[in-house]
Order: sequence, then C-alpha cells, then structure tokens
Amino acid sequence: MSDAGLFSPDFFVARRRFQFAAKRLGWRVESYPLNLTGPKGADLTVEVAVSPATGTDQAMVVTSGVHGVEGFLGSAIQLGICNRWYHEDVRTKRVRCVFIHGLNPHGFAWLRRFDQNNVDLNRNFLLPDERYAGCHPGYESLNSLLNPPTARPWIDPFPIHAVRKIYQHGLQALKQCVAEGQYEFPRGLFFGGSEPSFAMSLLNQQLPSWLAGCERVIHLDFHTGLGRRHQWKLLLDQSLATGQQQDLQQWFGHDRMETAGDNQTAYDVKGCIGRWCARHSHVPNYIYGCAEFGTYSPLAVLAGLRAENQAHHWNSPNQRVFWRTKLRLKELFCPAHPSWRTWAVEQGMTAVENAFRGLQQDTA
Ligand SMILES: [Zn+2]
Repeated sequence: MSDAGLFSPDFFVARRRFQFAAKRLGWRVESYPLNLTGPKGADLTVEVAVSPATGTDQAMVVTSGVHGVEGFLGSAIQLGICNRWYHEDVRTKRVRCVFIHGLNPHGFAWLRRFDQNNVDLNRNFLLPDERYAGCHPGYESLNSLLNPPTARPWIDPFPIHAVRKIYQHGLQALKQCVAEGQYEFPRGLFFGGSEPSFAMSLLNQQLPSWLAGCERVIHLDFHTGLGRRHQWKLLLDQSLATGQQQDLQQWFGHDRMETAGDNQTAYDVKGCIGRWCARHSHVPNYIYGCAEFGTYSPLAVLAGLRAENQAHHWNSPNQRVFWRTKLRLKELFCPAHPSWRTWAVEQGMTAVENAFRGLQQDTA
C-alpha cells in the first residue's frame, strides 16, 4: 500500500483499521465510549492500544485527533507504524507503546476541531491552580467578527475584514489573541470549556495505569494546520534539561524544535495537554512534543474554522452549506494532494521510529 493509502476517508474507517492493526501486533486495545454518535448514527469511542511490555521503564505515547479533524494524519501515522512493525516483526518489549486514537472522536467524525461541547481540547487541560474563566481583551473585541450568531450566508465578507485587522494589529498579535484560548464564549472558536472534558477525565483515570512503572516517556501528539506547507515542527511547552534536548535533537534534527513563546509557529496557550500530562502521569521524565504539520496559510485556516463553526451552530445538517464548510475544513487540515499526504505520513512515521529506537537503545 502506498503511504497516501494510509489515510482513511472518515473516522469510522480509521478506527476500524487502527483496531485491526494494533490487535494484529498483539497489543491490547481498549475502547472508551462517549455515548454519542457520528453523522450516520454509529457510536463514538476513543481507542487506546497498549503494547505488551511489562518489565520496562521507558514508554512512548502517540496521540491523534486531539483536534478532531486534524486526526486524519495522526491516525495514518499510527496505522502505518502498526502495519510496518507487523511486517518487520518489530518487538516493543523494551519500550511500552501507548497509541491513543482519536482523543476527540466527535470532532474527528463530524469534521471539526472542537469536541461535542465545542471545546478545544488543547485549551481544556487546566492545571489545579487555573480557572475556566477569562478571555484576551483582543478576542472580546473580535468576537462578533469571529463568531457571528446567525446562519451562514452564501457570500461571506470575512476575509476582507480579517485582512484589514491583520494590517491594523499584525499577524502574530492577532494569532495570539484569537488562538490562545477563551473561556467566555461557549459557541466561539478556541473555547477552552467550563469543566474538564471527557478526554481529560479519561486521561486522568487511565494515563497513570497505562504508564505504570515508567520513568521516562516521550509523547508525540500529531496536529496539522499550523506552520508552512511541507514543513513540520515539534512544539515544546516546557523547558528541557540538556540531556533531554540532546536526545530530541538527535531523534528529530536540530532545527525541528520550537519552544513556546519564541513567536515562530506557535503561540502561548493555557490548558495544553502536554503540560498537564507531564504533571499528572506520575512519570518523572515526561517529554511532550506537539508535532505540527503545515498545510494552508493562517488566514485560510482561520476562515475555514470560522465558517465551519458558524455552520455547525447555526445551520442544519440538511443544508448543503453545513457539509460544504466541513469538507473544506478537512481539506485545510488534511490536504488531499498525494504529495502532501505522502510527505506528511513518511515524516511522522520516521519521527515515531526515531524516538522509539532512541528509547530502545537507552534500555540496551
Ligand atoms: Zn491542533
């Protein structure tokens, strides 16, 4: 199968292929139901595959679909790794692997970034001293532009207004105030929620047991839609010790990493999944990297998110505009062009394998 063939047409096919491939490797597959259904009525679940490695203190966590529709790439990478390791008879005894598939299955199935409560999961994982409240003043002033409370019209002047705002404020400032997360507008973009999400409760209950006995974890969390097309970055939201930094440079390359706040690809956000996992996993050495693969320009992605969010809340699923905005969003986060798909899945699989081999060497 070509690498582009690892991409599934929808969440349900992706889930079925993932279950089959992980079970075939001899991994335990757990299924966590949301008690919700997808567009055609099928149940939504989060699948977690854990490799049978008991005597090790090293683990690799790979997550897909934290941002729903972004899950097509992460799912393809997880599937590609499972298939390759099956054919090459790769054993995971010395490194426990925990692959979490479609952590936001509702968003994945309904082709949106946010979950069933319109929550952006990567703004929802608050630490104990943080509150589900607040909003950047810049976001408040843009709220009516970003989140119009009306059905979606055929002609939408948003791009013109947005370009004007970019000229006024600068792209990076605008990116920060729009995308950093907000806790005041429940139907708005980048809403962090008002309580812990299903995903956070699941990880709170299960992550320590999946990683029981581990001293060191590398967690790769696959995302798309941020950064330049045909470029990917590993975004880190924690400062690393020298040894950790050297490991990552060796595994992923020197120019791959960016740390939060250096104003290149990322923006500072509260409620990130990585910081939370590092605190709540009970693993002393937990390194989280958000692997971001560029697709389209920031303005195209923002316009697509805005259009889908508006149609999702204010139009009916029977209207053409409802699905048109969702299919457009899928293209923005997972371009159909074979050159992008082949490149992205190969890069992602190489990253997973390099981290795996690095951990494995250290146990030799
Ligand atoms: Zn994302």
